[in-house]
Amino acid sequence: MSSIDNELKEVLHNIQQVLIQEKGLFGDTLYVDPEPEGKEPEEQPMPARKKTTVGEEGPDLFGFVVPKATPQQEQLPSYPNEPWVSARSLAELDSIICDCVKCPLGQTRTKFVFGVGSPDADIVFIGEAPGADEDAQGEPFVGRAGQLLNKILEAIRFKREDVYICNILKCRPPNNRDPEPVEIDTCEPYLWKQLELLKPKIIVCLGRIAAITLLRINESLNNMRGKLYSYRGVKVLVTYHPAALLRNPQWKKPTWEDVQFLRKIYDQMKAEEDEAS
Ligand code: URA
Repeated sequence: MSSIDNELKEVLHNIQQVLIQEKGLFGDTLYVDPEPEGKEPEEQPMPARKKTTVGEEGPDLFGFVVPKATPQQEQLPSYPNEPWVSARSLAELDSIICDCVKCPLGQTRTKFVFGVGSPDADIVFIGEAPGADEDAQGEPFVGRAGQLLNKILEAIRFKREDVYICNILKCRPPNNRDPEPVEIDTCEPYLWKQLELLKPKIIVCLGRIAAITLLRINESLNNMRGKLYSYRGVKVLVTYHPAALLRNPQWKKPTWEDVQFLRKIYDQMKAEEDEAS
């Protein structure tokens, strides 16, 4: 094959990757940025909040509908023979599962990445899977994406230590590829148990994979943003993955809107708690 053919093949491969990513985020709608390079896009209003008619629980404080948990979420499978089921703290759960080799990632990981943050956190952030830095250090979101997440948290007046951060997968997929279904099926029960122990009030899914996995829905990221979902009675919000923001700085503005929405819900919840006490 000539070098021109090789170059063409590489260009086509790159275009295909971008289109796959766009489809994941926006579904079948192809968004093209009409702004000339370097120009700030016009100020956009918050996206319209869509109301869903499926499994409605009634409008929440902001008039948004919180869809009920799907039947799969209501009836979590039971694992009677698994020792981790009876864990009574996050530390105990971690100590029971940290040597897991139930899926092939157990053979290739450097460190098991359980999660980090306050066991009393009201807010849990869930990413996809550890990357190289996380695999080396055994802590989620410590690389470039993690530094951006820290900045996002600071911008809405949260500290990393106040919240809890974890991933759908506890081990790194080689070369940062997407998690395989068998890896998710094997690892997700650990996350369910972790959430059961944490009892958060709000969950934030970072990126489409975390959201569609936890919520059992097949939507584009853009369709999930700006809505409140429910996972076993806990409010769930969806926003861009910080790593996607590093590659696509134009998504910082919608992310800013999403995290302001998070702050608003959190403040409202706290005000209600204060009133009730
Ligand atoms: N990306 C993730 O989804 N999780 C991490 O912990 C790091 C990067």
